[in-house]
Amino acid sequence: MEDKKLTHGLWEKTAPALQSFDLIRGENTTDVAIIGGGYTGLSAALHLAEEGTDVLLLEAKDIGFGGAGRNVGLVNAGLWLMPEEVIARVGKEMGEELIRVLGESPDLVFNLIEKHKIECEAVRAGTLHCADSPSGYSSLKQRESQWQERGAPVTLLDSEAAASLIGSKAFVGALLDKRAGTVQPLAYAYGLAKAAHNAGAKLYTNSPVISINRDNNVWILHTPYGMVKANAVILAVQGYADNAFKDMQQNLIPFNYFQFSTPPLPEEVSKTVLPERHAAWDNNLVLSSYRMDKAGRLLVGSVGQVDNFAYSLHKNWAERTVEKVFPQIGKVSFEHAWYGRIAMTTDHIPRFHILGPDFITVTSYNGRGIGPGSVFGKLMAQYIKKGPKTIIPLPLSNPEKVSMRNLRGLFYEAGARIYHTAQRRTDLF
Ligand SMILES: Cc1cc2nc3c(=O)[nH]c(=O)nc-3n(C[C@H](O)[C@H](O)[C@H](O)COP(=O)(O)OP(=O)(O)OC[C@H]3O[C@@H](n4cnc5c(N)ncnc54)[C@H](O)[C@@H]3O)c2cc1C
Repeated sequence: MEDKKLTHGLWEKTAPALQSFDLIRGENTTDVAIIGGGYTGLSAALHLAEEGTDVLLLEAKDIGFGGAGRNVGLVNAGLWLMPEEVIARVGKEMGEELIRVLGESPDLVFNLIEKHKIECEAVRAGTLHCADSPSGYSSLKQRESQWQERGAPVTLLDSEAAASLIGSKAFVGALLDKRAGTVQPLAYAYGLAKAAHNAGAKLYTNSPVISINRDNNVWILHTPYGMVKANAVILAVQGYADNAFKDMQQNLIPFNYFQFSTPPLPEEVSKTVLPERHAAWDNNLVLSSYRMDKAGRLLVGSVGQVDNFAYSLHKNWAERTVEKVFPQIGKVSFEHAWYGRIAMTTDHIPRFHILGPDFITVTSYNGRGIGPGSVFGKLMAQYIKKGPKTIIPLPLSNPEKVSMRNLRGLFYEAGARIYHTAQRRTDLF
């Protein structure tokens, strides 16, 4: 394991270089200020700049520092919830619109990649949601029928068909979703940043917003070395909310997810693991994900953080899991390990808040942010320019503190550690 720097792991090694951006200094004015340089903020900046709007983005650290640079890279369609669960939570009309918009979100992502020639290992082969038990298979059946009613190209595969696409006999079946695909997630963020910059957006890094106030109908954003006066503000900080927006963390349940990546597998082995380069995850309560990168590395991920004591525990689990799910690999070793914080809500629905006049945020994508971040960034850009005529298909709410959030977070972390230690995976085989 050469890489002990638990930040962006493999992704920072394989993302193409991005030009460096300055930190902001002095007094600046803009029409729209965006806070946060992940998918949401970058998509908003790109779409505003393309419309000719004067837009300035402030990122506390580097482009893609938050979830955007740490995730698995699955470009999924829709939320984790099944369509009928979405409707039960937000109502029929809004629910169907939310399902439609997010069901089509991979189109937006892959179109942006094509339009701006973003080099991010994009593969649109589809994803496989794998059943680890007969009850998991029944639940996928429900998912299939709810999506098929809405015309989505999803198909439930039996164990044999699933095994040939996964390259493993470990699962009872899998739901193939042809709308979806994979990207190198940090490289996608870099590509959006480059496209936004080329379209005229001003981007600044190492420029945390430390306070914000309103004076004479103008928003004033303060950073350590500069300030920005803006007519409108889009907040796009998600689970990495910091400095002035730390309170936003109180609305989320902390939920960590780690990944380990192997060195490139020998070609004859690489051809047998997810041979058509689908990405896969299972429907276990403590889920695991599997994907390959362009160079033929296998990435395995699951719930938890890989700091300190937990590192060995999760690493041992990852080794045992890879050896059982993909026995053709033989003894496995890992090159990189990293993790990130997912912004979860109690009902698994993202949040839309109006924080003041012309000051909005959409946040908490519950672990699915590549499509939603790209979509909600675009919709917020339109909302700021055209007002509430633009439909953001989420209930408007006020930020609310989640009670016992830290306890809930500890519960997830402890549950994942117990599960990974006990290696209940044995009941799969
Ligand atoms: C480990 C992991 C795996 C995941 N897997 C997937 C997946 O496979 N597919 C998928 O679709 N989604 C996945 N997600 C979720 C996805 O990464 C997020 O939903 C997405 O990154 C959200 O984008 P964003 O731009 O809203 O926020 P982020 O990408 O988190 O960006 C927020 C940015 O705001 C900046 N910031 C914070 N405070 C300030 C401040 N005061 N001033 C200025 N800037 C500030 C942060 O530094 C950060 O760069 C995963 C997330 C994690 C952590």
